[in-house]
Amino acid sequence: FRKAVRGEPLPRVVEGGPTPLERIPAIRNPTINGIVEVARGCGRGCRFCVPTQRYLRSLPLEKIREEIRVNRAADHLLIHAEDVLRYGAKGILPEEERVLALFREAAESGLDTSASHAAFASVASAPSLVQRISEMLGVGSREKPMFGVQMGIETGSPSLVERHMRGKALPFSPEEWPEVVVRAHGILADSRWVPCSTLVLGLPGETEEDVRKTRELVERLGEFESLIIPLFFVPVGSLSGERFFTAKDLRAEHWRLYAACVRHDFRWIGRLIREHFRDSRVKRLLTGMLVGVMRRRLEPYLRRMEEGESPLP
Ligand code: SF4
Repeated sequence: FRKAVRGEPLPRVVEGGPTPLERIPAIRNPTINGIVEVARGCGRGCRFCVPTQRYLRSLPLEKIREEIRVNRAADHLLIHAEDVLRYGAKGILPEEERVLALFREAAESGLDTSASHAAFASVASAPSLVQRISEMLGVGSREKPMFGVQMGIETGSPSLVERHMRGKALPFSPEEWPEVVVRAHGILADSRWVPCSTLVLGLPGETEEDVRKTRELVERLGEFESLIIPLFFVPVGSLSGERFFTAKDLRAEHWRLYAACVRHDFRWIGRLIREHFRDSRVKRLLTGMLVGVMRRRLEPYLRRMEEGESPLP
């Protein structure tokens, strides 16, 4: 930073280790979307994820309280961690009282609060935690009908979990992963949490059978209000020697999986729009019309994808 301030030439990449907690500076002004970082690192160690493989460190509550105070000028608070349910955890299991103390700070601020990320394994291993947070924040009320959070399914194949993301399923086994994801969706739905989840297509060693299992999992999630977004594998972290997955690598089973995700998202997007724009009839109407047009235009392509064909020209 000193070099940058002096206008000296800078290296293209700067490598560094984890910053000790006491050296993480407090914010001085409100952040975009009122984001307040409450923890760094993850520790679950998925092989396709770089910075979050670092060990989990939670910021002290006093510092978080101060950042919430600075963010009072924003009309919203976004609690950020790779898994907000493991705030303050020493191991893999959530420490419920510490997480509740964190959300109590947010609730007492009076600001509309949301969270950035959470893990399905944490939801399933502490089933009452999500419900208690929802009660604290008034989730499910007319003013706050739902609580959106970004999560990672990545695959429905236990063998890919075993190979690349064993820690993501803990304290459960890779074999239990699909059931953990389904059970966690049920717990989230009961407390009006709506996950927006990612999948990773083209993980090294992925077979047609793995992709089929992921599609079956997506189909099982149909009854739960959520969005599912398929992403392509990017070679980083301990998988940096592998090749990128590209559109040219998409096979019949991938197209079927894509179609299942699009159908799932169309199933729920209307309700999400109504909830999100609950105070604006015009926005509800306009976005609803836009989605209707997209749905009609995409239908022939979706049918082809469901047959395992590429819709690309
Ligand atoms: S659980 Fe998520 S944040 Fe943690 S290492 Fe895996 S992909 Fe990264």
